[in-house]
Amino acid sequence: MVLDKLSQSLRDALKKVANAAYVDKRIIDEVVKDIQRALLQSDVNVNLVVGMTKILERRALTEKPPPGMSSREHVIRIIFEEIVNILGSSREISPRKQRIMLLGLYGQGKTTTAGKLAKELHKKGLKIAFIACDVHRPAAYDQLVQIGKKVNVPVYGDPKETHAIKILRRGLKQFRDEDIIIIDTSGRHSLEESLFKEIKELSKEAKAEEKFLVMDATIGQQAGPQARAFNEAVDITGVILTKMDGSAKGGGALSAVAETEAPICYIGTGEHLGDLERFDPSRFVSRLLGMGDIQSLIEKAEETIDVEKAEEAARKLMSGRLTLRDMYNQLEMLEGFGPFQKVAQMIPGFSSKLSSDDMQLSQERMNRFKIIMDSMTEAELEEPKLIKSSRILRIARGSGTTPKDVRELLKQYNMSKKAIKGFLGNRKMRRQLMKQLKMDDTTFG
Ligand code: GDP
Ligand code: MG
Repeated sequence: MVLDKLSQSLRDALKKVANAAYVDKRIIDEVVKDIQRALLQSDVNVNLVVGMTKILERRALTEKPPPGMSSREHVIRIIFEEIVNILGSSREISPRKQRIMLLGLYGQGKTTTAGKLAKELHKKGLKIAFIACDVHRPAAYDQLVQIGKKVNVPVYGDPKETHAIKILRRGLKQFRDEDIIIIDTSGRHSLEESLFKEIKELSKEAKAEEKFLVMDATIGQQAGPQARAFNEAVDITGVILTKMDGSAKGGGALSAVAETEAPICYIGTGEHLGDLERFDPSRFVSRLLGMGDIQSLIEKAEETIDVEKAEEAARKLMSGRLTLRDMYNQLEMLEGFGPFQKVAQMIPGFSSKLSSDDMQLSQERMNRFKIIMDSMTEAELEEPKLIKSSRILRIARGSGTTPKDVRELLKQYNMSKKAIKGFLGNRKMRRQLMKQLKMDDTTFG
């Protein structure tokens, strides 16, 4: 994986969201900071990072997840989209007869990339030829010939000729029938006027459909101004970033190029001629973030605990209030204590208390309880203490049950309440639950 370090830190950040019991402002703030740090370490421009994380934060805090999507998934989707956004667009070489010029400074990977592109385009059944227009480096012609041999591509060049334009004209004549002509050019140590003069002249003569600027990704953000300079000189059609394999600054290079609006077409990921990847921002970011892994993490988290519901129930319990209505809602939601039991499972020692026999409700009893509660008034559900014998009689009659059944429900209710009180009275357990719920001590009355 290219950008290993960036990838790892971003994955760690996403895991925090995927594993979070509850996606709230605190976790979003924390994750946004993690992402910020990760991008800056990969040399992405500070302003770009700040701008992007602001949008990220705003979206994560205000946008509602679409139906069927959990808030975890939604936040992760937003992070994915915003990182894709800073990497811009992509383009592919169309597989037709054309000329491709490779431009760039010294040592950026132009000649190697010529071989890589040939290998790639061979797969599409195209006939390819190279023209060696680098007249500045003594061994440039030989290097291209070597690479040509490896990928079985003919090379036109003349190591004694000092005018690149003459080589180009002769080469174009010789390779009239080939599908794709890849023109390798000279570099310089820096953005010198003589280089631009030379490539402008070659560009005019070659009338190339593609003019790729080849840049070494280890230059990081410097890739931005370089792309702009080459674009002004010869209207580049795309960028190929090489050495993404060894570069911690690749994120900086990618985002800086994206800002110039020149599409990144390929990335070089090693010295071998097979080490070329078509650059597609979504696919790239998807791999960078390990979206497949994250997705399964989320699924696991969601199937084991319906945490948000559970927490709502638990928060209410933590406030020390348990009404019959709460109990009713929980009967509705799941069996027995449902969500609350799931919260309890997160806390060692507590779930065993709840699973003791008298806390278990049979399906039959649960149904009966629900019917009984349906015959209660709002006030009674909210304040069960109101239910004295005359009311018990009325409720039993209304629900077609017996006073004994109603008393049993009240007994169950009081037992649950006591169990919860007892639990909340235990400092250690309370702390644990509050930590789980990210509440502070004052919440508990
Ligand atoms: P040019 O001067 O622009 O033609 O650059 P070259 O093609 O001669 O490449 C310069 C050096 O970079 C060579 O040693 C290549 O093997 C190496 N190189 C090119 N592309 C990559 C890449 O994607 N990854 C790595 N690790 N090395 C590369
Ligand atoms: Mg070269």
